[in-house]
Amino acid sequence: MPDLTTSLSLCSLCPKLCSHVCPVYRASAKETLSPQAKMSSLLSLRQAGEQGSLAEALPLYGCTGCGACSSACLHKVEPAQQLVRGRTLAERAEVGHPALVDLPERVFQRAQDAARAILRDPQLSTRLAQPGDIGLLPSCLPRRQQQAGPEEEARQLLTVLDRVRAHRADLPSYGLLTVGSAGYALYAAGLEESFRLYAESLAQKVSELSMLVTTCSACTYLLKVVYPQHGVPLVPKVLHFGELILPYVSALPIARKLPQVTYHAPCHLSRRLKIDAPRQVLARLAEQVDDIAGEEPLCCGAGGLLPQTDPDLAQQMAHEAMAQGAGQPIVSGCPTCSYHLSKSGHKTRDLLDVLCESL
Ligand code: SF4
Ligand code: SF4
Repeated sequence: MPDLTTSLSLCSLCPKLCSHVCPVYRASAKETLSPQAKMSSLLSLRQAGEQGSLAEALPLYGCTGCGACSSACLHKVEPAQQLVRGRTLAERAEVGHPALVDLPERVFQRAQDAARAILRDPQLSTRLAQPGDIGLLPSCLPRRQQQAGPEEEARQLLTVLDRVRAHRADLPSYGLLTVGSAGYALYAAGLEESFRLYAESLAQKVSELSMLVTTCSACTYLLKVVYPQHGVPLVPKVLHFGELILPYVSALPIARKLPQVTYHAPCHLSRRLKIDAPRQVLARLAEQVDDIAGEEPLCCGAGGLLPQTDPDLAQQMAHEAMAQGAGQPIVSGCPTCSYHLSKSGHKTRDLLDVLCESL
C-alpha cells in the first residue's frame, strides 16, 4: 500500500477510475463522496492542519471500508485506511463527526453490557475461556430484528461447537470472552489513542489463549490486520468463526440440509481478507449455494460507522444490497452485516443461524 502522501498525490491526479465501484458514491449520487473526492477532502484537511473545517472533514465519514476502490485501483491505493487516518486528523482539528461525539462512552458501555449479559446468565457464566483455550468473541451488536444481544450469539456458538466436539474430540477446548468488543468503532472513528489503549488492554487479556475467534467480519479484519499495524500484535492466532469450523464441518451430522442458500459475502472478510470459509461451510449445509445476483455483492452499508454518521444512506445501501438478492432469503458470513441487511425489512440470517438450523 502506498503511504499517505503518495496515495494523496496519486488520487489527486486520477480521473476517478474507481468511482463506479464505490457503493457509497453509487447510493448517494453525491460527487463529494466518490473515492477521489474523499481523498481530495483529506488532502485539504491535511494541508489545513488545526485550521481544518467540518466541511472538509465530513466527506471522510462517507466510507464503509469495503475495499472495492482498492480492488479497482491500479496503484493499490487504500482509501479505506487513509480515510480513517483522515478522521484522526479531523479529531485533532476538533472537527470530528458530530454524531460520534460521545462514541468512547458508548463503546465502553456496550462492552460492559455485553460482558454483564454473559456473566449474569448461569449457563454462559460457567463457560468462560481459560488459559490455553480458544477464546470466542461474540459480536457486540444486536442480532436480527429481535434485538437479541451477544448472549444469544454466545449460546449459538457454544451449541454448534459442543455438537462438533461430540463428533470430533480433536477440537481444542474453547470458552467465551467477556471483553465485549474488539474496538472497531474506536478505530473507525479515527480515535487513534483510545483505540490503541483499548487494543493493548484486549491483547493483554487474551495473551494466554491459543486462538481468538470472532464471528464479525470487520472485527476479524481489525484483529488480523489493524492491531499489528498499530503496534499491538496478538499472541493467539486470530480466526473468523467460519475458518475455525471449516475443518470440522464434514464430520457434523446434518439433520436438515437446506435446498438452496444465497450468500452475501462480507466486504472485510471476502474482499479485504480473501476469506471464503463461510461459503465453504454453507456448501456442506445446503444443496446449492448461490452468490448474490451472480456478481460481486454490494456492500451492506454497516461498516465505517456509516449507520451512525449517515443512517439514511446506510439503510439505502442495505436496500440496494438486498435488491440484488431478488427477494431470496440471504445468508451473510457476518452477524453485523446480517443485522444491518435486516433493516431493509427482508429476512436475513448469518452462518451461525444456518448452522444451528441444520444441526
Ligand atoms: S484509489 Fe486509485 S483508482 Fe481510486 S481515485 Fe485513488 S488512484 Fe484513482
Ligand atoms: S472503501 Fe468502499 S466505501 Fe470507502 S471509498 Fe472505497 S469503495 Fe467507497
